[in-house]
Amino acid sequence: MEKKEYLNPEDCKDWITETEVKTFRITMRCPECGSDELFEWAGSEKLSNPPWYPHKCLACNYKVNLRKKYPHTIHKYKEVNDDTGR
Ligand SMILES: [Zn+2]
Repeated sequence: MEKKEYLNPEDCKDWITETEVKTFRITMRCPECGSDELFEWAGSEKLSNPPWYPHKCLACNYKVNLRKKYPHTIHKYKEVNDDTGR
């Protein structure tokens, strides 16, 4: 087959696969007061490698820096998500 530098959508249809994915919302409870859903990323980040993400509990005002943002969403392929007993 001739290698092309540009492919139109109709040229791609034989090569495209649709895979169902599941979306998970990852939340963290406040480590201080245990409040759910009120513990959130403050919307800024501290420059370091890897970065720190400031979080604040809206219930008790507890502030802490974390390596990940909460809440966040992740996507899992159905195959990966299947419980195979591992
Ligand atoms: Zn709290």
